[in-house]
This record gives sequence, structure tokens and C-alpha cells, in this order.
Amino acid sequence: MSINKYIFSTIGILIILFSLNSSYAEEEVNLYSARKEHLIKPIIEIFEKDTNIKVNLVTAKPGQLHQRLLQEGKNSPADILLTTDAGNLWKAEEAGFFKAINSSFLINKINKKYRNENNKWWGLSLRARIVVYNPKKINGKELKGYKNLSNPIFKSRILIRSSGNIYNQSLVAHMIEKYGIESTENWAGGLVDNFAREPAGGDRDQIKAILAGEGDLAVVNSYYFAKLLNSENKEIYKDLKVHFPKDDSMGVHLNLSGAGVMQNAPNSENAIKFIEFLVSDKVQKIYSYVNFEYPVVSSIGVPNTLKVWGSFYPDDISTSAYGKNNKLAIQIADRVGWN
Ligand code: FE
Repeated sequence: MSINKYIFSTIGILIILFSLNSSYAEEEVNLYSARKEHLIKPIIEIFEKDTNIKVNLVTAKPGQLHQRLLQEGKNSPADILLTTDAGNLWKAEEAGFFKAINSSFLINKINKKYRNENNKWWGLSLRARIVVYNPKKINGKELKGYKNLSNPIFKSRILIRSSGNIYNQSLVAHMIEKYGIESTENWAGGLVDNFAREPAGGDRDQIKAILAGEGDLAVVNSYYFAKLLNSENKEIYKDLKVHFPKDDSMGVHLNLSGAGVMQNAPNSENAIKFIEFLVSDKVQKIYSYVNFEYPVVSSIGVPNTLKVWGSFYPDDISTSAYGKNNKLAIQIADRVGWN
């Protein structure tokens, strides 16, 4: 081989290798996410490093993503919709966004209660709607589940955010499934009578309002309190206590974050890989130890903050009921004047 030929063939090989490499790097997946960017970013970075699949992230509120997907229709570049609350996942499924995926990995890892029965969406992390209370004002024995929160002994003592928020809508939807419409409406009316103030702010604000003396107990998602207990100001929260609601007919209302693969996903295989990655032990530990959510994979442990609260009885209901009863829940909240 002449020197010239040698040089040209070497350059040729380098060009082929380079283009192979760049086509590999072009593997991608388009993720529409309603989770806070700082929660999902570290997970995306690990996935990209492990798989060489680039994740294009779009972050917005659940309702905004839903609207955007409706507008984009079949031409949407989205591969995955990741959102919080089973109510939102239910709405997405109703809109025909998701396709069924056949993943024995996901089916085996995720309890039936926490995924769609037709394999269209998958729960990834769990959150309990708990009662945080001031033990100087409330004897823990007085707390007996959600239903009892309408008891007049709690008059002007309960802090809870607005019913416009899906967390409360899902709780009410859950109660409709348990107790029926009439009984739930009576309960919601009693609860509103017990409000310490007009609903304002998010879950964290309800906990802060206990410290400000505005009320004696707050109904909030578990991870918010866990985060406050691990924040710079943790000292001020340390005396507050947790009650896991439970009575004879209903255990703890669990909600979830979850995801599904889009009907017209351009990168469907990569989308499945990403959702499976979110259920891997590695990521489940992040959900648990960094975000303070309960892992959907039960073999994964929980951090000390959650451990010291003790174990609880999760209600046996399927989370699909939250979406199914969502409209009824909103109507009830409206009728009883829960703003
Ligand atoms: Fe939240």
C-alpha cells in the first residue's frame, strides 16, 4: 500500500468510526415532566451516563402539559408523560395519551394497586396524606383517621389547602369510593366547619401555620414534612408529630407519581427503558432517601426521618378510583364551600 493510500484509508476508517459514534449519541427520549426540575435532573444525568440515551426534558405544571399534549396531538414529540397524582394520570389515560406497554419487569416490580390495570401508566413513588399535629394542643389518641376530622372536637383547629388542589381532590375521591357520595359530602361539610382559616398556600404552609398558632393539625403529603425536618430550620419542627390516619374502614390515603409511554412516541423503546430505569433499585433509593417519598418497590428502605414515624396501614383501594371519582369530588367540595 502506498503512503497516500494508507493515509486515505486511515482517514476513511476514522470518519466511519466518528459517524458511528455520533449516530449512537443521537439516541434520545423526549420527556414531558410535571416534577420539579431539581428532583428529576440528577436521575436523568445518571440515565444518560448509563445508557448514552439523551433525555430532552420539558418541565411544566400537570395541567399545562396536558393542554400542550392535546394541542400537539399525533405530532407530539413526547415519548413519556411523567406526572404526580393518580388523578392526573387517570385524566391523561382518559384523553388517550398512553399506550399499553408489555414490560414484565414493571409488572413484577410494581404492586397492582399502583399501576394502570391495562399497563398504560406506572406508579414510581408513593406519598401518604398524613396528619401533622401539635402534641401540646392535641392528644394523639383523639386522632382516629380521616373520617373523624369532621368531629366538632376539632372546630377551628384544622389546616388544609384549597380543594382546587388535586391532592385533596384525590383524597375526597378516595373517600367517595369508601363511604359513598352522601356520607362523604356530610364529612366534607363537617371538615370545612372545622377549618382554622380559609385555605391558603401549599402543604408546607399548613405545617408552618401550626407553628404560628393558627391551627392545631394539618393534612399534608408526607414528603413535605420530611423535607422540613431535614431543612435548615429543622429545629423548629422537631416537636410536631405525625398521625397516620386509620379507622375501621379506611387506612392511609396513598398517592403516587407515575409515568406512561405516549401513544405516538417516536422513541418508544427508549421510553420503556427510561421508565424501567425509574423503577431500578438505584433510582428508587433516590426517591426514598433524597426526595423522602415512599419507594414503589417495597424492598427498598426508607431514611430515618420516615422510619421514626413508624409503619402504617395503606388503604387497600386501587389508585385508579381517584381519577374515576375526581369530578364528583370537585362537586362535593364546591357544594360544601371548601374553597
Ligand atoms: Fe407535591
